[in-house]
Amino acid sequence: GQCSAHCPVGAIYENSQCGNVWNELRQTDKHVVVQVAPAVRVAIGEAFGNAPGTIMTGQMYAALRKMGFDAIFDTNFAADLTIMEEATEFVSRFTKGETLPLITTCCPSWVDYLEKYYSEMIPHFSTAKSPQMMMASMIKSYYADQKGIKPEDITVVSIMPCTSKKYEITRDDHMFSSGIQDCDYVLTTREFSRMIKQAGIDFNSLPEEEADNPLGMYTGAGTIFGVSGGVMEAALRSAYNMVTGEDLTQVNFQAVRGIEGIKEAEIDIKGTKVRVAVAHQMGNIEEVLKRVKKAQAEGGEIPYHFIEVMACRGGCIAGGGQPYGATDEIRQQRIDGLYADDTKQKIRMSHQNPYIQKIYSDFLDKPGSEKAHKFLHTHYTPRPLYQK
Ligand code: SF4
Repeated sequence: GQCSAHCPVGAIYENSQCGNVWNELRQTDKHVVVQVAPAVRVAIGEAFGNAPGTIMTGQMYAALRKMGFDAIFDTNFAADLTIMEEATEFVSRFTKGETLPLITTCCPSWVDYLEKYYSEMIPHFSTAKSPQMMMASMIKSYYADQKGIKPEDITVVSIMPCTSKKYEITRDDHMFSSGIQDCDYVLTTREFSRMIKQAGIDFNSLPEEEADNPLGMYTGAGTIFGVSGGVMEAALRSAYNMVTGEDLTQVNFQAVRGIEGIKEAEIDIKGTKVRVAVAHQMGNIEEVLKRVKKAQAEGGEIPYHFIEVMACRGGCIAGGGQPYGATDEIRQQRIDGLYADDTKQKIRMSHQNPYIQKIYSDFLDKPGSEKAHKFLHTHYTPRPLYQK
Protein backbone atom coordinates (compact mmCIF):
# COMPACT_ATOMS: atom_id res chain seq x y z
CA GLY A 1 0.00 0.00 0.00
CA GLN A 2 0.97 3.63 -0.24
CA CYS A 3 1.12 5.90 2.76
CA SER A 4 0.32 9.54 2.40
CA ALA A 5 2.94 11.53 0.53
CA HIS A 6 4.46 14.82 1.65
CA CYS A 7 4.51 16.19 -1.87
CA PRO A 8 2.21 19.24 -1.81
CA VAL A 9 0.55 18.32 -5.10
CA GLY A 10 0.52 14.57 -4.45
CA ALA A 11 2.72 13.87 -7.47
CA ILE A 12 5.36 11.87 -5.61
CA TYR A 13 4.53 8.83 -3.53
CA GLU A 14 6.90 7.00 -1.27
CA ASN A 15 6.70 3.26 -1.95
CA SER A 16 5.62 2.47 1.58
CA GLN A 17 5.43 -0.94 3.19
CA CYS A 18 3.49 0.02 6.35
CA GLY A 19 0.52 -2.05 5.13
CA ASN A 20 2.64 -5.13 4.41
CA VAL A 21 4.16 -4.98 7.88
CA TRP A 22 0.74 -4.60 9.59
CA ASN A 23 -0.37 -7.70 7.64
CA GLU A 24 2.64 -9.67 8.87
CA LEU A 25 1.93 -8.59 12.45
CA ARG A 26 -1.66 -9.84 12.13
CA GLN A 27 -0.58 -13.35 11.11
CA THR A 28 -0.41 -15.44 14.27
CA ASP A 29 1.76 -18.18 12.69
CA LYS A 30 4.53 -15.70 11.84
CA HIS A 31 7.37 -14.81 14.19
CA VAL A 32 7.89 -11.16 13.31
CA VAL A 33 11.24 -9.71 14.34
CA VAL A 34 12.35 -6.09 14.06
CA GLN A 35 15.71 -4.30 14.11
CA VAL A 36 16.26 -0.55 14.45
CA ALA A 37 19.25 1.32 13.00
CA PRO A 38 21.43 3.70 15.06
CA ALA A 39 20.28 6.98 13.46
CA VAL A 40 16.55 6.32 13.97
CA ARG A 41 16.70 6.78 17.75
CA VAL A 42 17.86 10.41 17.55
CA ALA A 43 15.31 11.48 14.92
CA ILE A 44 12.08 9.56 15.57
CA GLY A 45 11.19 11.95 18.41
CA GLU A 46 10.90 14.85 15.95
CA ALA A 47 7.63 13.41 14.61
CA PHE A 48 6.24 13.76 18.14
CA GLY A 49 7.44 17.29 18.88
CA ASN A 50 10.81 16.50 20.48
CA ALA A 51 14.02 18.34 19.61
CA PRO A 52 16.32 16.71 17.01
CA GLY A 53 18.92 14.59 18.77
CA THR A 54 16.65 13.51 21.64
CA ILE A 55 17.59 9.89 22.35
CA MET A 56 14.37 7.82 22.36
CA THR A 57 15.72 4.26 22.24
CA GLY A 58 13.66 2.97 25.19
CA GLN A 59 10.40 4.52 23.91
CA MET A 60 11.10 3.05 20.46
CA TYR A 61 11.45 -0.47 21.86
CA ALA A 62 8.26 0.00 23.90
CA ALA A 63 6.31 1.20 20.83
CA LEU A 64 7.50 -1.79 18.79
CA ARG A 65 6.39 -4.18 21.54
CA LYS A 66 2.96 -2.53 21.63
CA MET A 67 2.71 -2.83 17.83
CA GLY A 68 3.06 -6.60 18.25
CA PHE A 69 6.60 -7.52 17.22
CA ASP A 70 7.68 -10.85 18.72
CA ALA A 71 11.33 -9.89 19.21
CA ILE A 72 12.99 -6.50 19.21
CA PHE A 73 16.62 -6.42 18.21
CA ASP A 74 18.98 -3.52 17.65
CA THR A 75 21.00 -2.92 14.48
CA ASN A 76 23.59 -1.39 16.84
CA PHE A 77 24.41 -4.95 17.95
CA ALA A 78 25.03 -5.85 14.31
CA ALA A 79 27.17 -2.73 13.95
CA ASP A 80 29.38 -4.21 16.67
CA LEU A 81 29.47 -7.42 14.63
CA THR A 82 30.38 -5.46 11.47
CA ILE A 83 33.29 -3.93 13.36
CA MET A 84 34.58 -7.35 14.38
CA GLU A 85 34.62 -8.50 10.75
CA GLU A 86 35.78 -5.24 9.20
CA ALA A 87 38.52 -4.46 11.74
CA THR A 88 39.79 -8.05 11.36
CA GLU A 89 39.83 -7.58 7.58
CA PHE A 90 41.68 -4.27 7.96
CA VAL A 91 44.27 -5.60 10.41
CA SER A 92 44.90 -8.64 8.21
CA ARG A 93 45.40 -6.54 5.05
CA PHE A 94 47.47 -3.95 6.93
CA THR A 95 49.85 -6.45 8.53
CA LYS A 96 50.26 -8.40 5.25
CA GLY A 97 50.46 -5.20 3.15
CA GLU A 98 47.58 -6.40 0.92
CA THR A 99 45.27 -4.22 -1.22
CA LEU A 100 45.05 -0.96 0.71
CA PRO A 101 43.31 1.36 1.27
CA LEU A 102 40.40 -0.67 2.60
CA ILE A 103 37.11 1.12 1.91
CA THR A 104 33.99 0.67 4.03
CA THR A 105 30.74 -0.61 2.54
CA CYS A 106 27.89 -0.02 5.00
CA CYS A 107 26.17 2.44 2.66
CA PRO A 108 24.25 0.79 -0.21
CA SER A 109 24.04 4.05 -2.19
CA TRP A 110 27.80 4.18 -2.23
CA VAL A 111 28.08 0.46 -3.10
CA ASP A 112 25.77 0.98 -6.09
CA TYR A 113 27.77 4.03 -7.20
CA LEU A 114 31.04 2.13 -6.92
CA GLU A 115 29.79 -0.84 -8.94
CA LYS A 116 28.66 1.52 -11.69
CA TYR A 117 31.43 4.13 -11.81
CA TYR A 118 34.48 2.79 -9.95
CA SER A 119 34.35 -0.97 -10.46
CA GLU A 120 38.15 -1.06 -10.79
CA MET A 121 38.24 -0.20 -7.06
CA ILE A 122 36.25 -3.30 -6.06
CA PRO A 123 39.33 -5.12 -4.63
CA HIS A 124 39.60 -2.24 -2.12
CA PHE A 125 36.08 -2.74 -0.84
CA SER A 126 35.51 -4.36 2.51
CA THR A 127 33.59 -7.60 1.93
CA ALA A 128 31.82 -7.16 5.27
CA LYS A 129 28.05 -6.75 4.87
CA SER A 130 26.28 -3.75 6.38
CA PRO A 131 24.86 -4.04 9.91
CA GLN A 132 21.30 -4.32 8.51
CA MET A 133 22.25 -7.38 6.43
CA MET A 134 24.40 -8.98 9.14
CA MET A 135 21.50 -8.72 11.60
CA ALA A 136 19.02 -10.20 9.11
CA SER A 137 21.22 -13.20 8.37
CA MET A 138 21.89 -13.79 12.09
CA ILE A 139 18.13 -13.71 12.82
CA LYS A 140 17.34 -16.35 10.19
CA SER A 141 20.29 -18.61 11.16
CA TYR A 142 21.69 -18.22 14.69
CA TYR A 143 18.48 -16.94 16.34
CA ALA A 144 16.23 -19.33 14.35
CA ASP A 145 18.41 -22.28 15.53
CA GLN A 146 18.32 -21.10 19.14
CA LYS A 147 14.54 -20.66 19.11
CA GLY A 148 13.84 -23.80 17.08
CA ILE A 149 11.87 -21.77 14.52
CA LYS A 150 12.20 -22.42 10.79
CA PRO A 151 13.67 -19.40 8.95
CA GLU A 152 10.68 -19.38 6.59
CA ASP A 153 8.36 -18.82 9.57
CA ILE A 154 10.27 -15.67 10.56
CA THR A 155 9.65 -12.23 9.08
CA VAL A 156 12.48 -9.72 9.46
CA VAL A 157 11.58 -6.03 9.40
CA SER A 158 14.22 -3.29 9.50
CA ILE A 159 13.62 0.30 10.51
CA MET A 160 16.18 2.41 8.72
CA PRO A 161 17.04 6.10 8.17
CA CYS A 162 17.56 5.26 4.53
CA THR A 163 15.55 4.58 1.38
CA SER A 164 18.54 2.78 -0.26
CA LYS A 165 18.25 0.09 2.39
CA LYS A 166 15.04 -1.02 0.62
CA TYR A 167 17.18 -1.78 -2.43
CA GLU A 168 19.97 -3.43 -0.42
CA ILE A 169 17.87 -6.38 0.82
CA THR A 170 17.81 -7.98 -2.64
CA ARG A 171 21.12 -6.56 -3.91
CA ASP A 172 22.66 -9.93 -4.71
CA ASP A 173 22.68 -13.63 -3.74
CA HIS A 174 24.59 -12.94 -0.52
CA MET A 175 21.47 -11.23 0.81
CA PHE A 176 19.87 -14.71 0.85
CA SER A 177 22.55 -16.30 3.06
CA SER A 178 20.04 -18.12 5.29
CA GLY A 179 18.72 -19.94 2.21
CA ILE A 180 15.83 -17.48 1.80
CA GLN A 181 15.67 -13.70 1.66
CA ASP A 182 17.31 -12.60 4.94
CA CYS A 183 15.49 -9.28 5.38
CA ASP A 184 11.84 -9.07 4.30
CA TYR A 185 10.80 -5.43 4.73
CA VAL A 186 12.48 -2.09 5.27
CA LEU A 187 10.58 0.80 6.82
CA THR A 188 12.01 4.31 6.95
CA THR A 189 11.98 6.42 10.12
CA ARG A 190 9.07 8.33 8.54
CA GLU A 191 7.06 5.15 7.93
CA PHE A 192 7.78 4.02 11.51
CA SER A 193 6.45 7.29 12.93
CA ARG A 194 3.29 6.93 10.80
CA MET A 195 2.73 3.41 12.10
CA ILE A 196 3.10 4.58 15.71
CA LYS A 197 0.42 7.19 14.98
CA GLN A 198 -1.80 4.69 13.13
CA ALA A 199 -1.64 2.44 16.23
CA GLY A 200 -2.75 5.34 18.43
CA ILE A 201 0.33 5.05 20.64
CA ASP A 202 1.18 8.05 22.82
CA PHE A 203 4.90 7.85 22.03
CA ASN A 204 6.22 10.51 24.40
CA SER A 205 4.63 9.01 27.50
CA LEU A 206 5.82 5.44 26.89
CA PRO A 207 7.97 4.04 29.70
CA GLU A 208 11.44 3.11 28.43
CA GLU A 209 11.92 -0.58 27.70
CA GLU A 210 14.88 -2.80 26.79
CA ALA A 211 15.64 -4.67 23.57
CA ASP A 212 15.65 -8.47 23.49
CA ASN A 213 18.69 -10.69 23.51
CA PRO A 214 20.78 -12.29 22.10
CA LEU A 215 20.82 -9.61 19.36
CA GLY A 216 19.87 -6.48 21.28
CA MET A 217 22.76 -5.34 23.44
CA TYR A 218 25.10 -2.76 21.95
CA THR A 219 28.21 -0.76 22.76
CA GLY A 220 29.02 2.92 22.25
CA ALA A 221 30.97 1.92 19.14
CA GLY A 222 27.82 0.40 17.60
CA THR A 223 25.67 3.47 18.06
CA ILE A 224 28.06 5.94 16.37
CA PHE A 225 27.66 4.06 13.05
CA GLY A 226 24.90 6.55 12.36
CA VAL A 227 27.28 9.52 12.00
CA SER A 228 29.98 10.28 9.43
CA GLY A 229 33.25 9.13 11.01
CA GLY A 230 31.54 6.69 13.36
CA VAL A 231 32.39 3.49 11.51
CA MET A 232 36.04 4.58 11.35
CA GLU A 233 36.16 5.48 15.04
CA ALA A 234 34.46 2.23 16.06
CA ALA A 235 36.84 0.20 13.87
CA LEU A 236 39.92 1.94 15.29
CA ARG A 237 38.81 1.23 18.86
CA SER A 238 38.79 -2.51 18.11
CA ALA A 239 41.65 -2.62 15.57
CA TYR A 240 43.92 -1.19 18.28
CA ASN A 241 43.07 -4.15 20.49
CA MET A 242 43.53 -6.64 17.65
CA VAL A 243 47.00 -5.31 16.85
CA THR A 244 48.34 -4.71 20.38
CA GLY A 245 46.27 -7.04 22.58
CA GLU A 246 45.55 -4.01 24.77
CA ASP A 247 42.57 -1.69 25.04
CA LEU A 248 42.70 2.06 24.45
CA THR A 249 42.29 4.14 27.57
CA GLN A 250 41.04 7.11 25.52
CA VAL A 251 38.53 5.99 22.90
CA ASN A 252 37.44 9.34 21.41
CA PHE A 253 38.87 10.10 17.96
CA GLN A 254 37.93 13.78 17.59
CA ALA A 255 39.67 14.20 14.21
CA VAL A 256 37.14 12.00 12.39
CA ARG A 257 34.06 13.70 13.90
CA GLY A 258 31.90 16.52 12.56
CA ILE A 259 30.38 17.57 9.22
CA GLU A 260 33.48 18.71 7.39
CA GLY A 261 33.36 16.96 3.97
CA ILE A 262 36.72 15.20 4.14
CA LYS A 263 38.33 14.37 7.49
CA GLU A 264 41.85 12.99 7.73
CA ALA A 265 43.79 11.59 10.67
CA GLU A 266 46.97 9.70 11.45
CA ILE A 267 46.57 7.20 14.24
CA ASP A 268 49.51 5.84 16.17
CA ILE A 269 49.08 2.17 17.05
CA LYS A 270 52.14 1.57 19.25
CA GLY A 271 54.58 3.12 16.80
CA THR A 272 52.75 2.06 13.63
CA LYS A 273 51.12 4.93 11.79
CA VAL A 274 47.70 4.33 10.25
CA ARG A 275 46.43 7.04 7.91
CA VAL A 276 42.67 7.29 7.61
CA ALA A 277 40.16 9.41 5.68
CA VAL A 278 36.44 9.90 6.18
CA ALA A 279 34.36 11.26 3.30
CA HIS A 280 30.67 11.94 2.96
CA GLN A 281 28.62 13.20 -0.01
CA MET A 282 29.63 12.03 -3.48
CA GLY A 283 31.76 15.08 -4.45
CA ASN A 284 34.01 14.60 -1.42
CA ILE A 285 34.19 10.86 -2.02
CA GLU A 286 35.29 11.50 -5.62
CA GLU A 287 38.05 13.77 -4.33
CA VAL A 288 39.39 11.13 -1.92
CA LEU A 289 39.29 8.45 -4.64
CA LYS A 290 41.10 10.81 -7.01
CA ARG A 291 43.94 11.18 -4.47
CA VAL A 292 44.21 7.38 -4.14
CA LYS A 293 44.16 6.79 -7.90
CA LYS A 294 46.75 9.50 -8.49
CA ALA A 295 49.13 7.89 -5.99
CA GLN A 296 48.50 4.49 -7.58
CA ALA A 297 49.18 5.85 -11.08
CA GLU A 298 52.41 7.53 -9.97
CA GLY A 299 53.54 4.50 -7.98
CA GLY A 300 53.80 6.73 -4.89
CA GLU A 301 52.92 5.98 -1.31
CA ILE A 302 49.17 5.55 -0.81
CA PRO A 303 47.69 8.55 0.98
CA TYR A 304 45.41 6.43 3.23
CA HIS A 305 45.22 2.92 4.62
CA PHE A 306 41.55 2.98 5.59
CA ILE A 307 38.69 5.08 4.16
CA GLU A 308 35.14 5.48 5.44
CA VAL A 309 32.49 6.51 2.95
CA MET A 310 28.87 7.60 3.44
CA ALA A 311 26.66 9.05 0.71
CA CYS A 312 24.67 11.40 2.97
CA ARG A 313 25.98 14.65 4.44
CA GLY A 314 26.72 13.99 8.11
CA GLY A 315 26.08 10.25 7.65
CA CYS A 316 22.86 8.28 8.17
CA ILE A 317 21.53 10.77 10.75
CA ALA A 318 20.48 12.81 7.70
CA GLY A 319 19.56 9.88 5.45
CA GLY A 320 16.79 9.81 2.87
CA GLY A 321 14.37 8.06 5.23
CA GLN A 322 14.68 10.51 8.11
CA PRO A 323 12.23 13.32 8.98
CA TYR A 324 12.24 15.84 6.14
CA GLY A 325 14.06 19.16 6.14
CA ALA A 326 17.47 18.43 7.72
CA THR A 327 19.67 21.50 8.01
CA ASP A 328 23.26 21.48 9.29
CA GLU A 329 21.93 22.61 12.66
CA ILE A 330 19.55 19.65 12.81
CA ARG A 331 22.33 17.34 11.59
CA GLN A 332 24.58 18.55 14.40
CA GLN A 333 21.85 17.99 17.01
CA ARG A 334 21.34 14.40 15.83
CA ILE A 335 25.13 13.87 15.74
CA ASP A 336 25.41 15.16 19.33
CA GLY A 337 22.61 12.75 20.28
CA LEU A 338 24.51 9.72 19.00
CA TYR A 339 27.80 10.74 20.66
CA ALA A 340 25.85 11.22 23.91
CA ASP A 341 24.42 7.72 23.45
CA ASP A 342 28.02 6.47 22.97
CA THR A 343 29.31 8.00 26.20
CA LYS A 344 26.22 6.74 28.06
CA GLN A 345 27.16 3.11 27.37
CA LYS A 346 29.27 1.29 29.96
CA ILE A 347 31.01 -0.61 27.16
CA ARG A 348 32.30 1.47 24.26
CA MET A 349 34.29 -1.06 22.23
CA SER A 350 32.64 -3.69 20.02
CA HIS A 351 34.95 -6.57 20.98
CA GLN A 352 33.94 -6.15 24.64
CA ASN A 353 30.21 -6.72 23.97
CA PRO A 354 29.49 -9.99 25.83
CA TYR A 355 26.82 -10.99 23.28
CA ILE A 356 29.33 -10.46 20.47
CA GLN A 357 31.75 -12.77 22.26
CA LYS A 358 28.88 -15.26 22.71
CA ILE A 359 27.77 -15.25 19.07
CA TYR A 360 31.32 -16.15 18.02
CA SER A 361 31.71 -18.90 20.62
CA ASP A 362 28.19 -20.31 19.98
CA PHE A 363 27.92 -19.97 16.24
CA LEU A 364 30.39 -17.99 14.15
CA ASP A 365 33.67 -19.42 15.47
CA LYS A 366 35.93 -16.37 15.07
CA PRO A 367 35.98 -13.15 13.03
CA GLY A 368 36.81 -13.94 9.41
CA SER A 369 36.04 -17.67 9.84
CA GLU A 370 34.48 -19.75 7.06
CA LYS A 371 31.09 -19.51 8.74
CA ALA A 372 31.47 -15.75 9.22
CA HIS A 373 32.18 -15.48 5.50
CA LYS A 374 29.09 -17.50 4.59
CA PHE A 375 26.74 -15.28 6.59
CA LEU A 376 28.44 -11.93 7.06
CA HIS A 377 30.36 -11.19 3.86
CA THR A 378 29.46 -10.36 0.28
CA HIS A 379 31.02 -9.60 -3.11
CA TYR A 380 30.64 -6.79 -5.60
CA THR A 381 29.96 -6.89 -9.33
CA PRO A 382 30.97 -4.31 -11.93
CA ARG A 383 27.76 -2.89 -13.44
CA PRO A 384 29.04 -0.28 -15.90
CA LEU A 385 26.39 2.06 -17.30
CA TYR A 386 28.40 2.64 -20.47
CA GLN A 387 31.76 1.62 -21.91
CA LYS A 388 34.46 4.17 -21.06
FE1 SF4 B 1 21.61 5.33 3.56
FE2 SF4 B 1 22.66 7.78 3.53
FE3 SF4 B 1 23.32 6.06 5.47
FE4 SF4 B 1 24.18 5.67 2.95
S1 SF4 B 1 24.73 7.38 4.30
S2 SF4 B 1 23.34 4.12 4.35
S3 SF4 B 1 22.40 6.40 1.76
S4 SF4 B 1 21.29 6.93 5.10
